Amino acid sequence: MRVLMVYPEFPDTFWSFKHALPFIRKKASLPPLGLITVAAMLPPAWEKRLVDMNTTTLTRQDLEWADYVFVSAMVAQRDSTHEVIRRCKQAGVKIVAGGPLFIGEHEQFPDVDYFVLNEAEITLPRFLADLEKGEPQRIYETTVFPDIRQTPAPMWELLNLRHYSDMCIQYSRGCPFNCDFCNITAMFGRRPRTKTAPQLIAELDSLYKVGWRGNVFFVDDNLIGNRRELERDILPAIIEWRQGKEGMAFGTEVSIDLADDPDLMRLMVEAGFDTVFVGIETPDEQSLTECNKSQNKGRDLVESVKTLQRAGLQVQGGFIVGFDSDKPSIFQRQIEFIQRSGIVMAMVGLLQAPFGTRLYERMEKEGRLLDDFSGNNTDGTMNFQPKMDPNVLQEGYRHILKSIYSPRAYYERVRAFLNEYKRPKVTRQAINWIHFEALLRSIVVLGIRGKERLEYWRLFFWTLLHRPRLFPQAITLAIYGFHFRQVCEHYVS
Ligand code: SF4
Repeated sequence: MRVLMVYPEFPDTFWSFKHALPFIRKKASLPPLGLITVAAMLPPAWEKRLVDMNTTTLTRQDLEWADYVFVSAMVAQRDSTHEVIRRCKQAGVKIVAGGPLFIGEHEQFPDVDYFVLNEAEITLPRFLADLEKGEPQRIYETTVFPDIRQTPAPMWELLNLRHYSDMCIQYSRGCPFNCDFCNITAMFGRRPRTKTAPQLIAELDSLYKVGWRGNVFFVDDNLIGNRRELERDILPAIIEWRQGKEGMAFGTEVSIDLADDPDLMRLMVEAGFDTVFVGIETPDEQSLTECNKSQNKGRDLVESVKTLQRAGLQVQGGFIVGFDSDKPSIFQRQIEFIQRSGIVMAMVGLLQAPFGTRLYERMEKEGRLLDDFSGNNTDGTMNFQPKMDPNVLQEGYRHILKSIYSPRAYYERVRAFLNEYKRPKVTRQAINWIHFEALLRSIVVLGIRGKERLEYWRLFFWTLLHRPRLFPQAITLAIYGFHFRQVCEHYVS
């Protein structure tokens, strides 16, 4: 049996980093972890190939080679997925589909032959057993959350590692919190399920052995969901494994209450984590109450961010406007908060109600649902009728983007962050030719041609003078700023 795994293309979003990647000669930021994990669950005798359309083109020859195409997609990949399915149909190849896009809207894809939905550890073996008997059903679903301690390591060998800026890995699924707009808990439950320390170390080791030394993103919904295991087993095991190894800085997603636990922060940094994405959402207490973001309430959020930065963790933040409780003053408050916090990579989006969330149910009950969920909360669309006048909301949203990504405000945040941040020694990577080339490109694109050239040179010399060890971070952030401005100009124009 010949199986072609296909990962459709992402649009140009804040998360795609499409305008930053050429600086380091990369094509995508992360590989399709789900697909290469599913590939490892298929019978070993089957032939497998992968086409990640974010790094390469899906050709007619690829489709002619395959007996089955396995396609996995997130909601943001909807348009490209429709195109993939159309081409598979045309080529007469059977399609097996899974992933978040199809969980919410499989009925929108009548041409898909089989849906293997929810978590593949449960549904894929059922599909494979029926296929072998020659009587596969069209849809395989489950409400059971599987144990992931038996999940195999991803098939890294299907990837062309040189195309990616970062690799990814998964330690846990699920999150103990219950934010009303988040579909994580609907998809993966509130009791975090974790891999064992030997299992995780074997995955990290296999990645190291295939030669990867770059960044690794833990795609967990909330890495600190099960603190006890993390502190007792996982982080000590990673610290031990790391001895004598170079590179492999880790990033992940955590809830803000990590800032309350100095021991956990210290262990994470020692284990090699240097970046965390935190859902800050809003500085407005009423809006936090409305969306049930209890862990963010009743605290000085700026101080919590600074605590994480001082511990050695760069904080990336998610922010949302469009809550029912939001007043028109929220736009300026968000700008001021982001500037004070020194969160350089601030992802501000309009509130969306993904399928399966409590927010979706409330909007449906109140008759406020509009179009399909775009899966891209920074494209200026909403899938429900907001309480605030939509024109005021759109205008305010655009004002936030224009303000925080203006060269002056952005570079000011970079300096504020570098002032606070102490990069952990553990993950320092040797400077190579690609870094040097990225520096040269940044000089040409940002320092000579760019609108931001004054700010670029100011940061360049300020860092050399005040924080010379953080010079690579300064240039990296300048390059990210270029990407954010390109995406932003698209939405605010
Ligand atoms: S903390 Fe994050 S992952 Fe957990 S429920 Fe809230 S938004 Fe979702």
